[in-house]
Amino acid sequence: MHFASDNSGPVHPQVMAKMTEANQGYQMAYGADVLMNEVRDRIRGVFEAPGAAVYLVATGTAANSLALATLSQPWETVFCSPVAHIHEDECNAPEFYSGAKLTLVPGGDKMNPTALWSSILAEETRGVHGPQRGPVSITQVTERGSVYSLEELQALCAVAKEYDLPVHLDGARFANALVALNCSPAEMTWKAGVDVVSFGGTKNGLMGVEAVVFFDESKAWEFELRRKRGAHLFSKHRFLSAQMAAYLQDDLWLKLARQSNANCARLADGLRAKGASFLHEPQANMIFASFPRSKHKLLHYAGATYHLWGAELVGADENEALACRLVCDWSIGPDEIDRFLDLL
Ligand SMILES: *Cc1c(COP(=O)(O)O)cnc(C)c1O
Repeated sequence: MHFASDNSGPVHPQVMAKMTEANQGYQMAYGADVLMNEVRDRIRGVFEAPGAAVYLVATGTAANSLALATLSQPWETVFCSPVAHIHEDECNAPEFYSGAKLTLVPGGDKMNPTALWSSILAEETRGVHGPQRGPVSITQVTERGSVYSLEELQALCAVAKEYDLPVHLDGARFANALVALNCSPAEMTWKAGVDVVSFGGTKNGLMGVEAVVFFDESKAWEFELRRKRGAHLFSKHRFLSAQMAAYLQDDLWLKLARQSNANCARLADGLRAKGASFLHEPQANMIFASFPRSKHKLLHYAGATYHLWGAELVGADENEALACRLVCDWSIGPDEIDRFLDLL
């Protein structure tokens, strides 16, 4: 009953098999491997973007930080949600790599176009003394499990474009959002106005690979230099390529995301039936729910693993409602979900 995160599950066997297959003989290093050519073509096809520049790195933090560094200048500011992963969970790596600072757009997990517009407008009112406007970074799926609709994405990108600012999409859970919206990768990115996407894989069955996709190739060389300088250019790159190749083969990435989201829906329906309340409406593979401490204790002692959200298991009031985060990955089976619900 493991719901701590979607990166605590196993690597998908097809990905392991592809890595073993890639472990034959010799391949050129640093991304010049044959598989990378295949991956580049596949990703260009998936995004309907024949001119896109495609790179692989091993962590989402590297993908976000290097992408944002490429889109910004040290005197600029990156606009994001107050709960953005780049703000809360990357130990200032985006600031470290870019030299820029983050400006938190007031509001919740989803940025609102009016608030974004006001935040952007408020910058550059102090001439040389103040930060200059820089990229907008949007997280899809958001850190609270909600999904921006295409209209919402388009509206945010339109605000950025009004100020001629580039847009970055943190897609650590790109596939989960895509299958939730049932749209095309192009619609969720460049057609909406996104310039660069961190296309996640690790949380959806890979060992550790995220792609960075630039729809405008002009920044590609700068990204390559930053990736090397930032120590994120892998020499035995074929094993990154192999993971991404397996991910894209026969739409494994979509299949796994559908599985994760379906697992999440099963769990959410069950929680709802048991009277749990939701802090956010679950739209992909993450649930933020609240139920009594006594139930958390029971689940905990039965071996369920998940994070309490701003709460402690130990406390006097057994009936106190405690919030938690439950994340479903592709591998968790219906039996485990039902066992969890039965205990509840
Ligand atoms: C997990 C995650 C990342 C990537 O994190 P790493 O631990 O660096 O791989 C980036 N953005 C979001 C929204 C995430 O949930």
